[in-house]
Amino acid sequence: MKETVCSCEELIPLSFPEEYSTPKQANLVSSILEGSIWDISCPSCKRLLKLEFEAVFHFPEWNLDIRFYPEESRNDFFIGKIKHSKSGRVCIGFPELVEKVKLASDELDDQIIEVMKYQFLQAKGFPENWKLYYSKFDQESEKIYFWLEGIRPAELAQTSVPFTIYTKTKSEINSWLKKSEVKEFTTPPYVNVFQVAKEEST
Ligand SMILES: [Zn+2]
Repeated sequence: MKETVCSCEELIPLSFPEEYSTPKQANLVSSILEGSIWDISCPSCKRLLKLEFEAVFHFPEWNLDIRFYPEESRNDFFIGKIKHSKSGRVCIGFPELVEKVKLASDELDDQIIEVMKYQFLQAKGFPENWKLYYSKFDQESEKIYFWLEGIRPAELAQTSVPFTIYTKTKSEINSWLKKSEVKEFTTPPYVNVFQVAKEEST
């Protein structure tokens, strides 16, 4: 059984499942979007602990399977230490999981979104440590909002792009996906421009 140690030194046994699926867990999507899926409170000091565990998520309504790894597994994943299937999607770290779930529930294509991020980062010269996360689609202003992380440590900025950029990128997606540098970050299972942007900036 898994366990964790609270900062008060209490040893807490954990019983989170290794597999989640929407038909069985009705509030799965909201618990991911709210960030509460792996919250526990310490039985001794009552502190709220926010944890992350390797897990598989099935969203049959979106035809989407996500394999999730905690942020600390990032290097192991990229050096090939973690064996995984090529199907579905891989998310590393909680913000990536939230992003994929938001995109699916807003019926947006993650490959198109990653190509949009790529164009944005390229225009800025791939600044080191910048990372974009899809935030929302605002129907009123017809804009797609992104969270931008890394401008200054511990700060999040928001940036927006007209929805017409999404439509335009969608119409050009086949030629985008043929470019070798784009293939690198749009080929499943890890569909995320972050790793490419990081490599090009160093
Ligand atoms: Zn405690």
